[in-house]
Amino acid sequence: MIAILREDARDTPVHGEYEVVVLGGGPAGIAAAAAAARTGRSTILLERYGFLGGAGTAAGLSNFCGLHANVRGEHRQVVRGIACEIQDRLQSLSGLSEPHLIFGNRIQAQAYDISAYKIAADELLAAAGVKTLFHALGAGVAMESERRIAALLFESKSGRRAVRGGLFVDASGDGDLAAWAGVPYEVGDGKGNMLYPSTMFRINGVDPEKAGRAWESIATRMDDAERTGRRFPRKGIIVRPQKNPIEWRANVTQVRNPDGTAVSGVDLEQMSYGEVEGRRQCKEVFEFIRASAPGFERSYIVEIAPQLGIRETRRIAGEYALSEADILGCADFSDTIGVQGWPVEQHAEGRVDWRWQEAGSRGYNQLPYRMIVPTRVDNLLVAGRCASMTHDGQSSARVSGPCFVMGQAAGIAADLALAAGCATRMVDVATLQRRLAADGVNVSGD
Ligand SMILES: Cc1cc2nc3c(=O)[nH]c(=O)nc-3n(C[C@H](O)[C@H](O)[C@H](O)COP(=O)(O)OP(=O)(O)OC[C@H]3O[C@@H](n4cnc5c(N)ncnc54)[C@H](O)[C@@H]3O)c2cc1C
Repeated sequence: MIAILREDARDTPVHGEYEVVVLGGGPAGIAAAAAAARTGRSTILLERYGFLGGAGTAAGLSNFCGLHANVRGEHRQVVRGIACEIQDRLQSLSGLSEPHLIFGNRIQAQAYDISAYKIAADELLAAAGVKTLFHALGAGVAMESERRIAALLFESKSGRRAVRGGLFVDASGDGDLAAWAGVPYEVGDGKGNMLYPSTMFRINGVDPEKAGRAWESIATRMDDAERTGRRFPRKGIIVRPQKNPIEWRANVTQVRNPDGTAVSGVDLEQMSYGEVEGRRQCKEVFEFIRASAPGFERSYIVEIAPQLGIRETRRIAGEYALSEADILGCADFSDTIGVQGWPVEQHAEGRVDWRWQEAGSRGYNQLPYRMIVPTRVDNLLVAGRCASMTHDGQSSARVSGPCFVMGQAAGIAADLALAAGCATRMVDVATLQRRLAADGVNVSGD
C-alpha cells in the first residue's frame, strides 16, 4: 500500500479555452489536431515533450508501418489523407526513403529521418492553425458531469494549469485522459501481459559498400553466436539502413522486468528501471554488431532514443473492439473511417510472432468509427494505440498508418459532434465518411 499525503484544495489558472483539446502529439494526435483545426474549430494540442511525432520520434522508430498493404500480391499505399501530407513534407525535406520490402516480399514499410519528421509535423500543425503547447504534461481532468469533461489539467514549468474544452481527443497512446475521465480500459491481454517494449538506437559511420545487405545476415550471426552460448534480448531483430546508408536503425532490444514480465509504460518505477536496462541492451547488442558485421567496424551509436519505446498499455473500452479476426480476415465495417494493411506483430517474451492476412487476400481491413468512441463519456474520442481493440488486434493496428487514420477521423468527428451538440457516439457516420473522403482519406480502401 502506498502512503497518502493530502494536498490542500487549490485554484488552478485556466490557460485557455478551445473547442477541441487534443492530448498527445503522435501520429493520432497530429492528424486529429490538424483535421479539427481545418474545420475552423479552435484547437489546442498538448504534448509533454518539446517536439511532435510520438513514438515515431521520441522512441526513435524512424519508420512508418501500416501505410502500405499487400493487395493480392501488389504492394500499394492504402492509407491516405494527412499521412500523405506528412510524407510530402518529409519528401521536400529530403527526409523520406522509398518504401522497402520486409519478410521477402510480404509487406512494405517506409523509413524517414527523425529530425525531418519533427519539422514536418510542426509545419503541418502551424499551417492548419493548431495551437501547440509543448512541455505540457496532462495530469487529470475536471468533469462537469459524470459523462462530460470540462477541462484537462496539466503540469508545466509555468505551474499547474487547466484547458477548458468542448470536445476532447485522447491521443496519449496510454489512454491517460480517458482513464482520468472514468472510461473503463484493459491493460495487455487481460492477465497483465503487455507487448514487450524496446529501446531503439541508430548507428552512424557504417560503410554501406562493405555492409551490403547486412540486414539479412546480422540476425543469422546472432543466432550462430547463441548456439555457442551467447544470449541476446530477443529474436526477430531489425537492423536496416536509413536514407543515407551510413546510418542504420536498430530495433533489437526487449525490455523485461526482473521477473520476466514486460516493463509497463504506465508504471513509474518500471519505466525508470526499463530506461537503464534498455540502454544497457543497446550497448551490448551494438558491440556485437560492430565486432561481427562487415562495414560496421568504424560505426558508433549516434543516438539512443529519448525514451523506452512502449508498444501497449491501456486500451479503452469503446463501442467496438477491433480484433485479430478483423485484421486477418480483412474486415469491412459500415462505419469505416479508413483502412490499414499491417499484419499482427506480437512482441512476446524473447521473440516477435507474426500472423498474416491470407496470401492472395485483399491485405487490408477497414477501421470502424466505433473503435475511437469510448463508452461512458460523451465529449471524448480516443485515437491511436490506446483506442478500442483487443490485445491481438492492437498488435496490428497500433502502428503509425492506422493511428493517422483514427486521428484524422477523430478531428472531423469532433467538428460534427460540436456542430450537432451530440455525444460522439451519435455522430452521423455517413457525413463523417463524406467529409473524410473529401479530405483525401481512403475511406473504404477500394
Ligand atoms: C520500439 C517500437 C518500435 C516500433 N516500430 C514501429 C515502426 O517501425 N513503424 C510504425 O509505424 N510503428 C512502429 N511502432 C508503433 C507506433 O510507433 C506507435 O504505436 C504509434 O506511434 C502510436 O501512435 P499514437 O499517436 O497512438 O501514440 P504515440 O506515438 O505513443 O504518441 C503519444 C504522444 O502523447 C504524448 N503523451 C503521452 N501522455 C501524455 C501526457 N500525459 N501529457 C502530454 N503528452 C502525453 C507522448 O509524449 C507522445 O508524443 C513501434 C513502437 C515501438 C514502441
